[in-house]
Amino acid sequence: MKQALSRKNIWEHLPRPLKKISGHAVGLLPVSHILGKQFRNGMKFIDEAQWWSHEQFKAYQLQQVQQICTLAFEKSTFYRAHFSATGLHPKKIKDLSDIEQLPTINRDTINNHLEHMLTVSPKGLNVDYITTGGTGGVPLRFYIGAERSQVEYPYLISGWQRTGYQLGMPMAVLRGRIVPPDQHGLPHEYDPLLRHHYYSNFQMTEENMGRYLEHIGNLGPCFLHIYPSSASNLTRYMLRHKIKAVQNIKGILAESENVYPEQRRLVEEVFGCRYFSSYGHTEKLVAAAECEKSNNYHVWPTYGYFELLSPDGRAITTPGERGEIVGTGFINKIVPFIRYRTGDYATYIGDSCQECGRAMPIIADIQGHNIQEHLIAEDGSLITWSAINVHDDTFDHIRQFQFYQETPGKAILKIVPTTELRKRDIALMQSNLSKKFAGNLWLDIKLVDKIALSQRGKTIFVDQHIPQEKY
Ligand SMILES: [Zn+2]
Repeated sequence: MKQALSRKNIWEHLPRPLKKISGHAVGLLPVSHILGKQFRNGMKFIDEAQWWSHEQFKAYQLQQVQQICTLAFEKSTFYRAHFSATGLHPKKIKDLSDIEQLPTINRDTINNHLEHMLTVSPKGLNVDYITTGGTGGVPLRFYIGAERSQVEYPYLISGWQRTGYQLGMPMAVLRGRIVPPDQHGLPHEYDPLLRHHYYSNFQMTEENMGRYLEHIGNLGPCFLHIYPSSASNLTRYMLRHKIKAVQNIKGILAESENVYPEQRRLVEEVFGCRYFSSYGHTEKLVAAAECEKSNNYHVWPTYGYFELLSPDGRAITTPGERGEIVGTGFINKIVPFIRYRTGDYATYIGDSCQECGRAMPIIADIQGHNIQEHLIAEDGSLITWSAINVHDDTFDHIRQFQFYQETPGKAILKIVPTTELRKRDIALMQSNLSKKFAGNLWLDIKLVDKIALSQRGKTIFVDQHIPQEKY
């Protein structure tokens, strides 16, 4: 598992019917029409279901869990043995807590037993093969039904609507898409169906960032759909060049990477609008979106069955306690994921939202549990880079940075300087960081021209080469 939250590239794939439509006239159709009937039904269902009571959610979830467990037991040899080993027959599931009798599974389980976890032949027309995972890490491979996007897209849209987004509003997208230059040399591409403007976040040069902002400034009321690290890059650019907020950007939809409070604060301050985040992952087990009234995430109970577990497998119910997100998905019927440990962590807040009243599990501070986010000190302790990047002037004159580590206790900080960076700034940076590491980590600063993003265009803050199972 290399890059943090790399498998959390939710909503990358748009609903399939889009691909069947061509011709310029579609630009005139309402977007909900283009997205199809299944999408519209999904929206209607979620609009109502999000206000259900605990009892309604529980009844719905029990039925879904019974269904997926029965399917898994009957059609896959892996799950038949898995259930049999615990003595739990799917017919005996009468309460959601009954599935706690099953052991959890993880990425290794899927990778080692994939062929025996299938409920149908993977050669079917509506089955997609997915590989996910960052550079250098062990990828996760599995199969999933091709209709998944139509099921999940309404959840995403419904979350965004909490910020004032409406389907069909223009969207400026900076999310790892390879975008060729247009006739003016700007890496920009327009999708008239969805009214999405794609810009390349692989090419966030000073010149391009200025041009992106200028171009976005002419889109009319719009939203920015962006990786948190790219939002942060743009913000720092605006600060460096004393550029005021782009008034027509009505909200920033930042997801698929860890959200750091300091980044969020700065982006909201500079852009002058709401920074809204959602959580999801390629496995389609758990989805959550922030509240319209707070930054807490509301987990969608109709999307999958969510558990938050302590390292020893205990269900976390104490507000403030952190645990691992474990999911049983309702969407993937090709390879069921039952009690899958996602490797992502969150803080438990409660079982309903005090602000909006939704009776959903409420969690906060979701973080990919990933060594990529940590440096390893001489004594083996982990240092989170976000703790290093506290708000001071250490990083004022640099455009991009990345820690590189091969040996515990030693790391290289690669930086892409701005033209204002002076030698004494480097010395200051070295001394500031040394103070923070307190002798536990020896750091070498290296100036570079460029820092590569991951294949999906995400920022790798810590390029970690120490095998993670050691820590
Ligand atoms: Zn709420």
